[in-house]
Amino acid sequence: MNNPILVVGGAGYIGSHMVKLLLAAGHKVVTLDNLATGHRDAVSGGEFVHADLADRAALDEVFKRHAFVGVMHFASSIQVGESVARPDLYYRNNFSHTLNLLDAMVAHNVKRFIFSSTAAIFGEPDYVPIDEAHPARPINPYGISKWMVEQALAGYDRAFGLKSVCLRYFNAAGADPEGELGERHQPETHLIPLVLQAASKRRPDIAVFGRDYDTPDGTCIRDYVHVMDLCQAHLLALDKLAAGGDSDAFNLGNGNGFSVQQVIDAARRITGQPIAVKESPPRPGDPARLVANSERARSVLGWQPQYADLDVIVGHAWEWEKKMPACF
Ligand code: UDP
Repeated sequence: MNNPILVVGGAGYIGSHMVKLLLAAGHKVVTLDNLATGHRDAVSGGEFVHADLADRAALDEVFKRHAFVGVMHFASSIQVGESVARPDLYYRNNFSHTLNLLDAMVAHNVKRFIFSSTAAIFGEPDYVPIDEAHPARPINPYGISKWMVEQALAGYDRAFGLKSVCLRYFNAAGADPEGELGERHQPETHLIPLVLQAASKRRPDIAVFGRDYDTPDGTCIRDYVHVMDLCQAHLLALDKLAAGGDSDAFNLGNGNGFSVQQVIDAARRITGQPIAVKESPPRPGDPARLVANSERARSVLGWQPQYADLDVIVGHAWEWEKKMPACF
């Protein structure tokens, strides 16, 4: 394919790994990012456009210059707590601004869209592992904003023939196995990078948010999935649409749940550091258990996670953490 793929949010955590993978697979890439939370130096190649999705004229300009094969959309606000305090920001950035992108695609006849969705669209699950048939009942503006986009996409397909694949990530984690990229959120809120910052002494301890959940050790269980495996799923999803496939949605996880305590134990083992724990109250809105059923991704997309082992995920994240300057 000679035409480029547009990666929106390609300077962020998952987007930057995607850009690297696309370039390695021989694709041309244009990254568009407003650098609100991303890092210019995380974009390893291709063309970079510094623009905001609020700026429809900037979008038209980039869509005029390139006939994109498809668009991958990683740019969004991702903090659940912040979304409760500032729903306006989340609905605007994650929903309205995504409509700008979709409208530009329709205007410029680009018909393939891969969307970074989330397990948060399911809310408090009725059962685990969560398959695609599970009802979507998001319980915070973050999850609602992502579910609104999924619903809008169904309408854009019917009305405009825009084909999409929604990929609902469970807990994205890990880092580039070659050690060039990793997670650099500011502030960091995710468990694995925070545990590793405690291991490297960039923070004094790791807060454990609650020990009274209905799980074997009382801490919350999540399905950690390697960032490179998520990126592979994007490639497969784009292939599906390029082959004339219909719009679809997939839950992406390894189907294995690990508790907060198990993650801390794995990090102690891998880093050789003691890692101090601070017992803390439960975080509002945290379901006890979120685990994916990804059978459809495996059977329909042919997705085969390469880094499904928690120790590998934590090990790659640790290699990255060791490169972080103490001041960051
Ligand atoms: N967590 C924790 N301490 C932290 C950050 C997270 O105990 O400092 C817990 C959190 O309550 C959840 C799990 O770790 O049960 C994963 O949280 P994260 O924010 O990484 O992802 P989420 O599941 O919220 O998308």
